[in-house]
Amino acid sequence: MKCFSLVMMGLLSAVTAQAQLQPGKQTPESSELWSPEPRLVTAGKADSQVSGFTAPSDAIVLFDGRNLDQWVSAKDGSSKAPWTNSDGIMTVVPKSGDIQTKELFGDYQMHIEWRTPAKVDGNGQGRGNSGIFMQGIYELQVLDSYNNRTYSNGQAGSIYKQTMPLVNASKGPGEWQTYDIIYTAPHFNKDGMMTIPPYITVIHNGVLVQNHTMIQGTTPYVGQPNITPHGRGPIKLQDHNNTTSFRNIWIREL
Ligand code: MG
Repeated sequence: MKCFSLVMMGLLSAVTAQAQLQPGKQTPESSELWSPEPRLVTAGKADSQVSGFTAPSDAIVLFDGRNLDQWVSAKDGSSKAPWTNSDGIMTVVPKSGDIQTKELFGDYQMHIEWRTPAKVDGNGQGRGNSGIFMQGIYELQVLDSYNNRTYSNGQAGSIYKQTMPLVNASKGPGEWQTYDIIYTAPHFNKDGMMTIPPYITVIHNGVLVQNHTMIQGTTPYVGQPNITPHGRGPIKLQDHNNTTSFRNIWIREL
């Protein structure tokens, strides 16, 4: 009798589980989502002047070769960007200082193309060094890392002095390279405590090098990462005394 009860209980629970899995009659249509509908974006196009795609229709173009109007000196955040623009290419003027966007950003997708000097000069951190700072303070390293050993968390594709890239996908000196970046900004509560850290995904020349990496804080040359509450910030490009160049820079806010 006891055995019969156990069998019945087992059968009942199996029937109940089945009922929970199928609350109503399922049709192909019952799992179709029609609303909302993703808005239309016209994709960028392949172009002989760029390595990736040109800006899609909903992007903010930060540099398309015409001028540096979207950029200012990072020294004061307002004076003219001191780098050169010739033949549609923006190039660092050594010792002129970093530049940054006029506009401030939170979460975004970003595309940027960069090129280290064809003439190899220097080694380690001194070869084609620049950088892209998320919100002005978290550096994604730009460096000629082709046959140029340096500390792993300081080579191209690293979050500087924090997280080395998953692989070294570098092209050689003088070749155009691409970064496609997905960045989400940190959140802070009203007491200034960080509730969500910043995260970054980076694809370097079509190869994943940072996979939803948590950014631990600022990326100083000396010292530990630091996080203090902040809001939106600029994209900053680094003058590290090397004539690294940039082109086709666009950003899509998320
Ligand atoms: Mg750098």
